Amino acid sequence: MANVPEIFGSMVFNDKTMKERLPKATYKALQKTIQNGEPLDINVANIVANAMKDWAIEKGCTHFTHWFQPMTGVTAEKHDSFINPTDDGNVIMEFSGKELIKGEPDASSFPSGGIRATFEARGYTAWDPTSYAFVKDGSLYIPTAFCSYTGEVLDKKTPLLRSMERISTEAVRVLKLFGKDDVTRVNTTVGPEQEYFLIDKELYNQRKDLIFTGRTLFGAKAPKGQELEDHYFGSIKPRVAAFMKDLDEELWKLGIFAKTKHNEVAPSQHELAPVFTTTNLATDHNELTMEVMQKVADKHGLVCLLHEKPFAGVNGSGKHNNWSISTNTGENLLDPGKEPYNNKQFLLFLAAVIKGVDEYQDLLRVSVASAGNDHRLGANEAPPAIISMFIGDELQAVLDSIEKGEPYEPSKKNKMQMGVDVLPDFMKDTTDRNRTSPFAFTGNKFEFRMLGSALNIACPNIMLNTIVAEELRQFADELEKADDFDSAVMELIKKTIKEHKRIIFNGNNYADEWVEEAARRGLLNLKTLPEAMKQYVAKKNIDLFEKHNIYTEKETLARCEIQLENYSKVINIEALTMLDMAKQDILPAVSAYVRELTETALAKKSLSSSITTKVEEDLVNDLSQKLQCFSNKIEELENALIVAADYEGDAQKCAEYYCNEVFAKMNELRAIGDDMETETASDFWPYPTYGDLLFSV
Ligand code: ADP
Ligand code: MG
Repeated sequence: MANVPEIFGSMVFNDKTMKERLPKATYKALQKTIQNGEPLDINVANIVANAMKDWAIEKGCTHFTHWFQPMTGVTAEKHDSFINPTDDGNVIMEFSGKELIKGEPDASSFPSGGIRATFEARGYTAWDPTSYAFVKDGSLYIPTAFCSYTGEVLDKKTPLLRSMERISTEAVRVLKLFGKDDVTRVNTTVGPEQEYFLIDKELYNQRKDLIFTGRTLFGAKAPKGQELEDHYFGSIKPRVAAFMKDLDEELWKLGIFAKTKHNEVAPSQHELAPVFTTTNLATDHNELTMEVMQKVADKHGLVCLLHEKPFAGVNGSGKHNNWSISTNTGENLLDPGKEPYNNKQFLLFLAAVIKGVDEYQDLLRVSVASAGNDHRLGANEAPPAIISMFIGDELQAVLDSIEKGEPYEPSKKNKMQMGVDVLPDFMKDTTDRNRTSPFAFTGNKFEFRMLGSALNIACPNIMLNTIVAEELRQFADELEKADDFDSAVMELIKKTIKEHKRIIFNGNNYADEWVEEAARRGLLNLKTLPEAMKQYVAKKNIDLFEKHNIYTEKETLARCEIQLENYSKVINIEALTMLDMAKQDILPAVSAYVRELTETALAKKSLSSSITTKVEEDLVNDLSQKLQCFSNKIEELENALIVAADYEGDAQKCAEYYCNEVFAKMNELRAIGDDMETETASDFWPYPTYGDLLFSV
């Protein structure tokens, strides 16, 4: 059995390793950079690089790589070996401070949304010393930020780090007003719960749709789905348990706090949750987690599907972004404490989040938009595309009394009796869990539940940090001028609740009435990515990012364009894959089955004209008609793709076309395909079925 404390972080050049391996002065200088963001002296960098290299070589490394998060949605790496030729024709292993701090990958093949012309291909990566270097697959990985040579941001880490700076600065200002002079830094923290599917590799390899798009494009429902609710928290099967054990160990080695694992609602669906950490680290760790999941699955003859909706008709996968704010003195600013109604500081931070979420609903929706996630939002499994907040009955009562200017009477009912003597009474969770809310207060943090399983969590956290930074800035501006701070705070909280309470909804978000109610309240309901992207570039959003130095206007427009283009490309690939499957596999398979039926009928007839052939004839008739229909739909989809080419050059219009036209044709084609699947003998059907895929592990 693994000795967990011993293996934990064994592949990470972490604080412990730095202390052991760096001269004291170097360690101290590096700490200054890590903690205060001071520039790293090249002499210090040289010593650090050399120590890292020696350590990495002991772990079996021959290469190093700058690891970054471009806007492709996956991480990127380019490996260089440590070798350096010597005069006598041999090599020595070297790694300089310069190589550690800065890399120069060719940036021209990464999406930039038109920011960087290809002739200006140069980009550079810069070490982010707040995220530790680590060893994986024989290489030393250095977490880096990625920019163009002219300084435009080309990645997700840079704006995330900037947004963390911004919220820290503004929160420190506010805390000063509460007399918290010892707070010098505020960090946001995140614990992302990750859902995924595990399916058998051999079956996966027989499905072009899974291979090319990560989701099934055809597939009739299996007789059994998730209706018995027997999978959620059910006992974990041996093959899955072996995978999970291996996965935990690999993650622990990388210093990732993998903590909780369980089965999820859909068959073959599971979840992993880490202990929360600083947002920047949580983001790097979540990217690594997704990668390691896929590698470990492969070793077990499995495939880990991270797509948001791999199977129609069963739940898709999401990611819950648990987010909070805490100080360098260890205080969680979203912890209501024992008496939330007397905790002005908590109420003010809560008000900042409420105001931010209301004013920037569109940005939060934008931050979780992807072609894959569009399948989930609004279906009865994920929160709807409408952003609202859940704060629970008790906090709601506190806010109500503040708004009305009445004293608050804490309820006496919140002590829960378990009814069993051996179990202690415990205070009922004051935020009685509401599973349907997209943005729920859960005790001392907010849980943003709209993220798709494959998403890089940087984007939603950039938005959260920035919008709350903006509200705290406004609050600090106002309160710094106040003569009577105490009454000014209460006034401000009251005013904020009054103006922004429409964003709070404690009821069932899955109910149809909520959609109508939300419309009455004037809340946005941006159902698809193209709709959401239109809001992204609204002036108030561009201004917000410019004011906080997160993105320039050009960078915001570029990001929007990249999202739109990516969306169109994904649907295009899906459509092409469907056509390929339809024409090369499904049509011939059904046709062959029809032929078999015809031959059977003829054979029967040749024996004796009195033998009935009605079954065969009916099926031949039915399937032939469906085949014709299927063939027509193939043609319609092909034509839709031809027309799509006309929209090239207008990313918004193009994405809308894919969303409204191409996608609709795909669904029509699928419907007939799935119908034929249920009538075709399984020997003839060219693919493993939903039943095979979902119930074989
Ligand atoms: P659930 O019931 O939704 O599964 P849990 O209470 O198990 O939720 O916690 C989910 C996640 O929330 C975990 O990853 C946990 O580390 C994280 N979490 C807890 N406290 C904080 C915090 N202060 N900031 C950010 N994340 C947190
Ligand atoms: Mg959760």
